[in-house]
Amino acid sequence: MKLSKLSELFKLAALALLAISVPAQAALRVFACEPEWGALAQALGGNLVDVTVATTALQDPHQIQARPSLIARMRNADLVVCTGAELEIGWLPLLLQQSGNARVQPGQPGYFEAARQVRLLEVPGSVDRSQGDVHAAGNPHIQTDPRNIGAVATALGAKLAQLDTGHAAEYQARTADFSQKWQQAVARWTQQAAPLRGLPVVSQHKGFAYLYDWLGLREVAVLEPKPGVEPSASHLQQVLAALKATPARMVLHAAYQDPRPAEWMSKNADIPVVSIPFTVGGSDAAKDLFSLFDDTVARLVTAGARK
Ligand SMILES: [Zn+2]
Repeated sequence: MKLSKLSELFKLAALALLAISVPAQAALRVFACEPEWGALAQALGGNLVDVTVATTALQDPHQIQARPSLIARMRNADLVVCTGAELEIGWLPLLLQQSGNARVQPGQPGYFEAARQVRLLEVPGSVDRSQGDVHAAGNPHIQTDPRNIGAVATALGAKLAQLDTGHAAEYQARTADFSQKWQQAVARWTQQAAPLRGLPVVSQHKGFAYLYDWLGLREVAVLEPKPGVEPSASHLQQVLAALKATPARMVLHAAYQDPRPAEWMSKNADIPVVSIPFTVGGSDAAKDLFSLFDDTVARLVTAGARK
C-alpha cells in the first residue's frame, strides 16, 4: 500500500472516530425550573446544552402541575437547575420522585439549587404555617437582584464543567465572558436606578425583597394579607388607609400575578402601577437576562420619575 493511500485511510478512520465521539445531540440535558435559570444555563452552555424550562414567566412558580411531559423531561435530564429555598416545594419533590432519575436527586452532582449560592433575605426566626405560604428557608425570589444572578452564574458554570469534563474549557470561557459582561451591565443598571434610592413602594406579593435590597427601595405595604393569599376588598381598603399616613410612590406586581389588586391600589392611591417582568419572558422586552433587567429598571425609573 502506498503511503498516500495509508494516510488517506487514517484520515477516514479519524473522521469515523470523530463522528462517534461527537453526538448529534447536545452534550448536557438541563432541566430548569424557572425561565431565568434556563436562560442562564443556555448562556453558559451555548450549543453544548439542551435546555428544558418547566415554567413560563406567566405561571406562578410556587404552584405548578407535575405534568407527565415534565416527568419525562426530568427522567432524561443530566442536570436539574432550580431556585430551591422551598420555592418549588409544592411540585419539585414529586417530579423528582416520579422521574426515577437517580442522577438528579438532591445531594447528587446533577442537582443544583441557585438559592444556595446567595445570602437569603427574610429568613424567619420561627415558621408558623398559619401565616400563609411562608418561605421557611427565607425569601426564594433571588433572581430580582442581578448581583445574585452573577453569583449563580459562577457556580453554575463550574457545575457544567464538572458534569461535562470534555468541554470544561468551553464552559469556563463562556462563564468568564458572561460574568464580565454581566458585571458591566449591573454597574450600568445600578447607576440608571440611582434616583429610586429610598423611594417608598407597595408590593402585591413579597416577591421583590432582593430587588429592593439592591436598589434601596423601601417596602411600606404589601397587598397580600399573607403570602400567596389574594387580598380581599376590605384588606385593600385597610392598606389604602395606611398609605394615607405613609404614602408610597408606586405599586409593584409580578407579571405572572393577577394585576387587579395592584391596579385597584394604583387608581385609589393615585400612584403608578408597575408590572415587573420578574423573569425572562415576563414582558415583550425581557427576551434574555440582559433585557430582563434593562426593562425592569426602565419601568421603575419611569414610575419613579412621576411626581
Ligand atoms: Zn413567594
